[in-house]
Amino acid sequence: MSVNSWANGLVKTLKDPSTHIISSNLAVVISDKYPKAKHHYLVLPHEDIPSIFNLNKTHLPLLEELYLLALNVIEVKQQKLQNFKIGFHNQPSMQRLHLHVISKDFVSDCLKKKKHWNSFNTGLFLDYEDLCKQLQETGQVKRLDSDTLKSLSNVDLKCNQCDFVAKNMPNLKQHLLQHFN
Ligand code: AMP
Ligand code: ZN
Repeated sequence: MSVNSWANGLVKTLKDPSTHIISSNLAVVISDKYPKAKHHYLVLPHEDIPSIFNLNKTHLPLLEELYLLALNVIEVKQQKLQNFKIGFHNQPSMQRLHLHVISKDFVSDCLKKKKHWNSFNTGLFLDYEDLCKQLQETGQVKRLDSDTLKSLSNVDLKCNQCDFVAKNMPNLKQHLLQHFN
């Protein structure tokens, strides 16, 4: 499979209505195929917006719709908002704008690499509110430079619930279970 066709995986999934957990005129909620927590959903617009770097102020109402659908899926799954992170990756790998809706347990067999953890638990994750604020204030979403991206991917594995710093991913995963079992 070529890199390009891998990056188009979300668009392909979107074309299959059986994958839609919720859909509106403007956007769709699907399950993440490789969930990094007990609950992990993606909200995608029908409009062909490649990524956060193609957004401007005119997209703010659409972003609000994506957020409402995120709240909606949390409700449909009978979960609590306070147990979720809702936002975007600062360095997305897949085509088509997508909002991550992920539970904070991070208990999942698909969570394997340090990069996975740090992509949700450092400045590599841009909260929905912070992205909207940036758009309001500057009219665009700024790319982080490659040195910043690299150093954020490599920061120590700090637990999201306490001050514990893990030696490696197996150590962190074992520790996380203590918080959520
Ligand atoms: P990002 O790093 O923000 O581009 O995240 C892309 C997300 O899409 C990851 O969490 C992947 O697990 C997920 N993913 C990859 N391929 C698919 C697919 N075909 N259908 C649903 N989710 C996918
Ligand atoms: Zn902890």
